[in-house]
Amino acid sequence: MATYSAAVLDDIRAGVDIVDFVGRFVNLRKTGANWKGLCPFHGEKTPSFMVNPKKGIFHCFGCGVGGDVFGFLMRQDRLSFPEAVRALAKTAGVALPEERGGQPGDSGREELFRAMDLAARFYAEMLWTPAGERAQKYLVERGIDPEVARRFGLGYAPEGWDRLADFMRSEKVGEDTLVAAGLAVQRENRGGSYDRFRNRLLFTIRDLQSRVVAFGGRAFGDDQPKYLNSPETPLYTKGNLLYAADVARETMRAKNRALIVEGYVDCLMAHQHGFTETVAALGTAFTPAQLALLRRYCDEVVTFFDADAAGQKAAERAEELLEPTSGGFAWAVNRSGAFDGGGLRVKVALLPAGHDPDTFLRAAGADAFAERIAGARSLLSYALERTIRDADGTGQRARANAFARVALMLSKVGDAEEAAALSREAATRLGVDATQLWFEAQRLSTSLRKPPAPVGKATAAAPTSGDDKKLVTKLVTLLLVDLEARPVLLPLLEPSDVVHPALREIVETLKRLPETPATALLAELASDEARHMVAALVVEDTTTPDPRASIEHFRRRLEFLGGRRRVRDLSRSIGAAQASQGVHASVDDDLLAVQRDSARVYQHQGGSAQVVDRAVDHPHPMGPDGPQGVQGHE
Ligand SMILES: [Zn+2]
Repeated sequence: MATYSAAVLDDIRAGVDIVDFVGRFVNLRKTGANWKGLCPFHGEKTPSFMVNPKKGIFHCFGCGVGGDVFGFLMRQDRLSFPEAVRALAKTAGVALPEERGGQPGDSGREELFRAMDLAARFYAEMLWTPAGERAQKYLVERGIDPEVARRFGLGYAPEGWDRLADFMRSEKVGEDTLVAAGLAVQRENRGGSYDRFRNRLLFTIRDLQSRVVAFGGRAFGDDQPKYLNSPETPLYTKGNLLYAADVARETMRAKNRALIVEGYVDCLMAHQHGFTETVAALGTAFTPAQLALLRRYCDEVVTFFDADAAGQKAAERAEELLEPTSGGFAWAVNRSGAFDGGGLRVKVALLPAGHDPDTFLRAAGADAFAERIAGARSLLSYALERTIRDADGTGQRARANAFARVALMLSKVGDAEEAAALSREAATRLGVDATQLWFEAQRLSTSLRKPPAPVGKATAAAPTSGDDKKLVTKLVTLLLVDLEARPVLLPLLEPSDVVHPALREIVETLKRLPETPATALLAELASDEARHMVAALVVEDTTTPDPRASIEHFRRRLEFLGGRRRVRDLSRSIGAAQASQGVHASVDDDLLAVQRDSARVYQHQGGSAQVVDRAVDHPHPMGPDGPQGVQGHE
């Protein structure tokens, strides 16, 4: 996990005000020692997301996510740990030691980012040269402002097979890198490669950090294909990004709304008309990943359909969006169009037949567009209604088809009550039996839906008794916040005794690094669960009134538990010895030791050493009350 020295990470932490930094993404209000806001990682109406500036930690009591400023940025912008470190080092003004041969995959990514950045600059420059005349003309035809074209980094890929390659050679970027970045294509028969993009207008696709990760190339005239996009690369996964999300995110947050359009030009035109909360879907389908990205910034997403195609498209979109994902996050929609657990409302704005946002904005202007947005309706109710209306007055088969589609949509509605109400409504309008529709929806639902992912992974406890977990949690909190407790208590603690995996990982890490403060420990933990747990414990911690008394209390508890463990181990070994050798005189010594231990153990509890007595009294310790019996009484 840690690829940078603890000292460097500390420098960065010291240089970044976590409240200020998180505050760029979340509205925070001060409450006591913490700052509070709506969690950017799950949908909620009442704030349960806390930032503690003194400890440099955030934690959400709703979904269990937590960590330091690195963890926050990793989650917020989907970065790897080294990427988050580099980004925050810049914020903090900390110079990082040059990483040579550190992370193999990672230095490769750096080189790819450099190549993409150089390519974007090369193409953007070409656009405004005489060579880019054809592309400039295209921009004029489409009504795209040069200012907007520059803001979005539009470019032109010149004709020829090696124009970019030549430029990259002068920048010492290798051919392998160009191929890996999707900028060049490997020749099949002969060696070498050629430029992927030739004689095209290029749209630059950036990630949320505004780093160039891909290009979309628009052909002129009849050249085919009309759109040529970057292939998937280590920097770019289709369906994970939205075009212009980096530019739009401030407005999305401010307006609490995102507009999703299909095409690059739709998107540019919306920005040009002041709708700077607009992103483009980069493909025909929205993915849950894209919606999850939007959900971090706003509660409402408006998508646009042309009135003619709208019914069909809305139904398709609704079905796409309702698909359960492999990640286990089942998107489900209720009647108001809100996603379960997400609180993201997806609405449909209708445009006149034959229009897309680009043509409509140019024809009717910003005010008319704003009116269409104001009249947007929930995607699901729209899709249901259209499906039903399409079936009206048609034959038996069309109605059966509509029935199936409505049932399918209903089957994906998360809230059962809501689904029942919707199916009654739909049944009346379809003229079918509501019960029948409801049963069909239920049947599909069971076959379609995977069990929803558990909420709050960090608190999804392994089978531990509540009391034990509470106790261990208190102990681990003490160990995290009180460095003096560690030398006393850590030697008494066996990680294998801790049942909860995240707590166990924390204990293991503390034993390995007993002098590392809680915040710095975050970078040393391997699992998200453990990091979230540390953040939760540290944020929750209200300073112990009497740390010495707590340490002493836990010392006695642990010694007691240690004694209990010895009793158990000894009982087991006695059992094993007897099983192989039969009852033997030498066992008596062991039993005496057990008895001594148990006496000490029960002193702590104020009880008697009754369990072990029974084992001693029993003539056949392998019987039902033998060693197994001892274990059973723990
Ligand atoms: Zn949360």
